[in-house]
Amino acid sequence: MVVVLEKNVSDKQIENIIKHLEDFGFAVHKSTGIEQIVLGAIGVKPDFDTRKVKILDGVAEVYRITEPFKLASRSFQKEDTVIKIKNVSIGGNEVVMMAGPCSVESEEQIFTVAEIVAKAGAKILRGGAFKPRTSPYSFQGLGEQGLKLLRNAADKYNLLVITEVMESSQIKLIEEYTDIFQVGARNMQNFSLLRDLGKTSKPIMLKRGLSATVEDWLMSAEYILSNGNKEVMLCERGIRTFETYTRNTFDLSAIPVVHKRSHLPVIADPSHATGLRDKVLPMARAAVAAGTDGLMVEVHNDPEKALSDGPQALLPDQFAELMQQVKLIAEVIGRKM
Ligand code: PEP
Ligand code: MN
Repeated sequence: MVVVLEKNVSDKQIENIIKHLEDFGFAVHKSTGIEQIVLGAIGVKPDFDTRKVKILDGVAEVYRITEPFKLASRSFQKEDTVIKIKNVSIGGNEVVMMAGPCSVESEEQIFTVAEIVAKAGAKILRGGAFKPRTSPYSFQGLGEQGLKLLRNAADKYNLLVITEVMESSQIKLIEEYTDIFQVGARNMQNFSLLRDLGKTSKPIMLKRGLSATVEDWLMSAEYILSNGNKEVMLCERGIRTFETYTRNTFDLSAIPVVHKRSHLPVIADPSHATGLRDKVLPMARAAVAAGTDGLMVEVHNDPEKALSDGPQALLPDQFAELMQQVKLIAEVIGRKM
């Protein structure tokens, strides 16, 4: 940690700051620059609250050098994490497509969509059976019946399954049907859920919270990793900003930022990030160009009648077109799809 002192700091204040740093357990190195004094505090623990130093009289700025997350960091593990599930690898050279409806709605719907996405080249079928809806009056999902339909449709078309888990009490049930647990944006900081998922042995896709910084997001991944489950991927799905022409703002730069800081795979979800069907294709291209390890895209055979997120669902032909285009982008950057 670097502590920059105010220009007019008094000797008494410097003494007091150094004393506090030593009491917190740091070794302190003082450097006197032309204009300001800088203290280097060595031995910062991951959970140290830098505000304890910021509030001391005479302190101008405090910069943390070591990251507060550990198991998720590149410094802990240099090589990329590659998550292997059956014949699919996530985090390697291949860019993996996860596609399907927002919600599983009926047998006909999920089998139709599964066939469409499988034929176009998707590897993983998505679909919610337990839905985190903003309104309690909106469709909440089919529950176990939805899980069964999703699994059967995926098996018929040789796809893996990803579906959302909203609370710890659902883990056992969902585990029977899914290959990957999805943690939704609204649950990114449901720490008891993250801890419990850390004790399972299936991969987890952790979506970024609506107003989470990359650091918050990686700290949430740390909850899963530190409880034993090392198969975590992160999903950028847009964050809340002041912009209103899209549902969220797609933070594309989070993709290279996370890749630099962490060894965990990153998935990009342009459907929830933009909320509008016509924005999904260009932003999917952009995400692949930015280095995403996978895409998650919503597709529906009859989006006008969808029970959730119809306006952002791609039509079957649009999905096929998207697959063709993102494949070309992947090749340009030396990846496969
Ligand atoms: C979803 O994937 O359908 C979903 C609800 O996503 P998010 O948690 O990103 O809003
Ligand atoms: Mn959705």
